[in-house]
Amino acid sequence: MELKDESILVVGAGITGLSLAYWLTQQGKHVILVEAAAQAGGVMATHYKEGFEINEGPVSCASTPLIEQLANELNLTVEYPTTASSKRFIYSQNKMHHVSPLTLLAGSLLSVRGKIALFRDLFCKAYNEPQQDESIASFARRHFGEEAHQKLLAPVIGGIYAGDTEKLSMQYCLPKLREITRKHGSLLKGFRKEDVKGNRKIISFEGGLVRLIHALEQNIKQLIRYNAKVISFSKDDQGYRVTIRQGEHHTTGSFSKIYFTVPAYALADIIKPVNETLSQQLLKVNYAPVTQWYLTADKTQVDGFGFLVPPADGLPLLGAINLSGIFPAKAPSGKSLFVVFTNSSAQAQSEKILADELSRATGARQVRCIHSRTWPRAIPQPHVGHANLFKHISHFEEQHPGIRCLGNFISGVSVGDCVAAAYWAAHQK
Ligand SMILES: Cc1cc2nc3c(=O)[nH]c(=O)nc-3n(C[C@H](O)[C@H](O)[C@H](O)COP(=O)(O)OP(=O)(O)OC[C@H]3O[C@@H](n4cnc5c(N)ncnc54)[C@H](O)[C@@H]3O)c2cc1C
Repeated sequence: MELKDESILVVGAGITGLSLAYWLTQQGKHVILVEAAAQAGGVMATHYKEGFEINEGPVSCASTPLIEQLANELNLTVEYPTTASSKRFIYSQNKMHHVSPLTLLAGSLLSVRGKIALFRDLFCKAYNEPQQDESIASFARRHFGEEAHQKLLAPVIGGIYAGDTEKLSMQYCLPKLREITRKHGSLLKGFRKEDVKGNRKIISFEGGLVRLIHALEQNIKQLIRYNAKVISFSKDDQGYRVTIRQGEHHTTGSFSKIYFTVPAYALADIIKPVNETLSQQLLKVNYAPVTQWYLTADKTQVDGFGFLVPPADGLPLLGAINLSGIFPAKAPSGKSLFVVFTNSSAQAQSEKILADELSRATGARQVRCIHSRTWPRAIPQPHVGHANLFKHISHFEEQHPGIRCLGNFISGVSVGDCVAAAYWAAHQK
């Protein structure tokens, strides 16, 4: 491995590692990016089947200023969603419920008691001291009551984390809402005072989200070592002496900085010989399994982005995205494409059950599954107390100047969060 002075090692070529390496090279830094797999992208991949665009992992991402800036620099054609994308639904008790402040009060998702409980929020008190972390469930109950928690918050959080609101940390998963209630007490009053806008716009790219991966990869192709893993590292005069295995070959080099952007369980393996305590903490980060099912149907006039299902309803799915309804170019004309999410492995689910369920919920006809992908460790679950892990990581980074740990279990799970964290890390001294 040829190394220049001030070489920087980035470990992991998911969206975090790729965008980080891209920005570092833009500053003229000499970077090596090692990726354990034969291709870059991590959980992001796009391919085509029967004329449908199949996006595995994220099917869209938030249109943040940084992602728009990257798309611009990399000449990507952004696909903007139809207006349907701003309409969100909850499917409960065999009925589709539109979610908006008005429909929550006037609609039938919540009982009269459930609707009255929503007003608890207005009486919640502000607090000055940073409170102890709490679960999303406990926060939701205090502000909006149990029914709204079960029928509204739990499905929405299930749609992002595929996780359990009783365990997920308010401090980590919904930090902005926590901050607003700390300042204003009531979330609703806080939203008004701080002029918080709802629904952030989502985007995709012509050719799928993987275009972002390919464009970043193309820019730094010569720096990427595929099928390569860090075997060991130790401090030396330059910074860190690192041994990397690529296929049968082992190479050793010195790096002034190392950025780890791998999942928590992979980082646990790498740093085990150096810091057993942090390694144990990293192994405690749970990952929720998710299976994505790509179901096609005859052209269906389904309104909205898709729907989420309250876990308490006991249906076999977390929700579904009406992909061709929001990005029509992703399906051949005359056809619809839905992505259904479940919390279990592909084997445990019957395609027929999901097809019937989707048909019942949306009225879609001739529904059939054309592809599925199971992620046994899909989404990291920041449970209450996740902040402890941050303390261990900060301590480790202080003891090892030049090492930074990034990735979705630290920086936030959305593609936008990963890209933002990579940008700040690349531009930090
Ligand atoms: C099913 C699913 C649906 C999602 N939907 C959305 C969505 O709609 N919108 C959204 O914004 N986000 C979504 N996300 C979340 C988002 O896609 C991820 O959080 C994000 O892509 C993670 O990027 P990353 O680079 O941090 O990690 P990863 O993508 O996990 O990349 C880590 C990389 O490190 C490599 N690696 C692992 N171990 C080693 C090692 N020892 N040495 C070298 N390399 C190693 C891996 O091979 C991988 O390439 C979804 C995720 C999943 C799984």
